[in-house]
Amino acid sequence: MKLSYQVYDLPLKHTFTIAHQSRDVQDTLIVKLEEDDIYGLGESTTNPFYGMTIENMIACLEEFRPVVESGNWETPEQLWELGRGIFRNNPFAQCAVDLAAWDFFTKKQGKKLYEYLNLDPRKIPTTNFTIGIDTVEKMVAKMKEVDWPIYKIKLGTEQDLEIVRELRKHTNSIFRIDANCAWTAEQAIRNSEELVKLGVEFMEQPLGKDDLEGMKEVFKYSKLPAMADESCIVESDVKKCHGLFHAINVKLVKAGGITPGLRMIHEAKSLGMKTMVGCMTESSVGITAIAHIAPLLDYVDMDGAMLLAKDPARGVTITPDKVTFPDGPGIGADLL
Ligand SMILES: [Mg+2]
Repeated sequence: MKLSYQVYDLPLKHTFTIAHQSRDVQDTLIVKLEEDDIYGLGESTTNPFYGMTIENMIACLEEFRPVVESGNWETPEQLWELGRGIFRNNPFAQCAVDLAAWDFFTKKQGKKLYEYLNLDPRKIPTTNFTIGIDTVEKMVAKMKEVDWPIYKIKLGTEQDLEIVRELRKHTNSIFRIDANCAWTAEQAIRNSEELVKLGVEFMEQPLGKDDLEGMKEVFKYSKLPAMADESCIVESDVKKCHGLFHAINVKLVKAGGITPGLRMIHEAKSLGMKTMVGCMTESSVGITAIAHIAPLLDYVDMDGAMLLAKDPARGVTITPDKVTFPDGPGIGADLL
């Protein structure tokens, strides 16, 4: 078994701005696990909010190299357990290895990942298309560029309601909003009253990630369901979010890959919470992995590769009514 990796700078179509960051290029790390003629690919982006850099991800991968290359593991779950200590503070790097392990493992079994997991690809919810923060005019223009049935609108500005009111004039599509921690409980409750009338389906992470007291109020009085993103990172957070949020947004990079991601989804469902898997601005390597587990979900946010000016990989293709997987077994994405 050989581990290798490559760094890519993914240029974005538009500067992507959310409440706590802005970027034109997304750095990403693509990991390859290879043995004989079979290889698996995985990916993780960097992320300043979570302190994840190419350097610290590579340092963890190098520490893990003897473990993964020893070949003393058979399943991705076993490999994940072997990495528990090394990747404790770097779930992003663990995600890249875990996705590569799932791709490799299911290719070896001759099955697509969704087949191995007994999931029905016809049950994949339609992904939303994300509109980053910009001037109101530019947000309208970005929305008109891509005609889509569900938009996720990034908020956290001085004119949040104005943005949604203006966008609503130009489409009947479903809206979701993501405040990325920018609001107070009072603002969230007040905003929810108008947002529900504007056809918003739910609000993602209205408050700061640790404002659990505020979330109690929001959970009780908001007119919209609330979804945890920054408040729900690893497995132990699922329980903490129960009774404070109606839904969780599991991101494979935050969780440390598909292995813990699946456990989080099942736990949230058993607690009666709705589930979404969200993305960063990954290439088609990371996005295709999300698509395979999407039949499990109520909502999915896997538009990352659609926001790129240039995708170094090919994988799943997504249209408003159809998700088409690459031919062949595994996750199946490949570098161009
Ligand atoms: Mg979010």
